[in-house]
Amino acid sequence: MDPVPDCLFCRIVTREIPADLVLEWEDVLAFRDVNPQAAVHVLVIPKEHIPSLAALEQRHDRLLATLVGAVNEVARQDAVDGGFRVVTNIGPDAGQSVDHLHLHVLGGRSFGWPPG
Ligand code: AMP
Repeated sequence: MDPVPDCLFCRIVTREIPADLVLEWEDVLAFRDVNPQAAVHVLVIPKEHIPSLAALEQRHDRLLATLVGAVNEVARQDAVDGGFRVVTNIGPDAGQSVDHLHLHVLGGRSFGWPPG
């Protein structure tokens, strides 16, 4: 799918908007969140515009595995040895603010449960 012109994360993929990149693979990009909620807060996204995790189709199975691999690579690079949390918000009730699938990788502190 082509980049969506008014999608913030598509514009990061096309480099129209700068980001603090930490990893780039063929189908996946990872960059630091501009408003970090932990010492490590990285967003892992597919380059393809997919609105959320709920919009994944069977054809994305390999991409999904690659995204998970990128999450683990980010955690390894940032040495979040004490553990880390992976979050993806889907829709307004969950607080999704950017409609391009992204996995938050959070680490460097302890987290409460249940989440707020
Ligand atoms: P969500 O609310 O789950 O959709 O997460 C969107 C995330 O994108 C938030 O944590 C924002 O801080 C982050 N964000 C928004 N704009 C940018 C940007 N230009 N670069 C990096 N992160 C961003």
